[in-house]
Amino acid sequence: MAVDATQPYDDQNIFAKILRGEIPCRKVYEDDFSLAFHDINPQAPTHILVIPKGAYVSWDDFSGKASEAEIAGFIRAVGKVARDAGLVAPGYRLLANAGTDSHQEVPHLHVHLFAGRPLGPMLVR
Ligand code: AMP
Repeated sequence: MAVDATQPYDDQNIFAKILRGEIPCRKVYEDDFSLAFHDINPQAPTHILVIPKGAYVSWDDFSGKASEAEIAGFIRAVGKVARDAGLVAPGYRLLANAGTDSHQEVPHLHVHLFAGRPLGPMLVR
């Protein structure tokens, strides 16, 4: 079910459980502010999720409430994950769903990183 991005943070969401180590993930990268892991249901040859470690429901929540250090750390982590995966030259797509119309399903901010083939038009028409 799509997330209402205005809801309070639910610490039982699946990414909160991954951050606490209660559920495994295929980790790609971790630092003080961020964790990156492979999507369980990949939509492209490379499909990585990058999440902030802080408890933020959505891009709106994060951009409004996170500290400068958290925001800088997270943005740098997304770039580093792509760079370290060798994706700068071939290219990649970033996507963050936020709220009902976007079909956000997990209520913890995550940026999808897609790559590994020509990705086609940005949205289904
Ligand atoms: P969204 O629709 O933007 O909220 O995307 C949620 C993403 O989380 C989907 O691409 C799912 O395949 C992915 N996902 C859900 N559970 C897990 C999990 N346990 N490990 C890795 N990815 C997951």
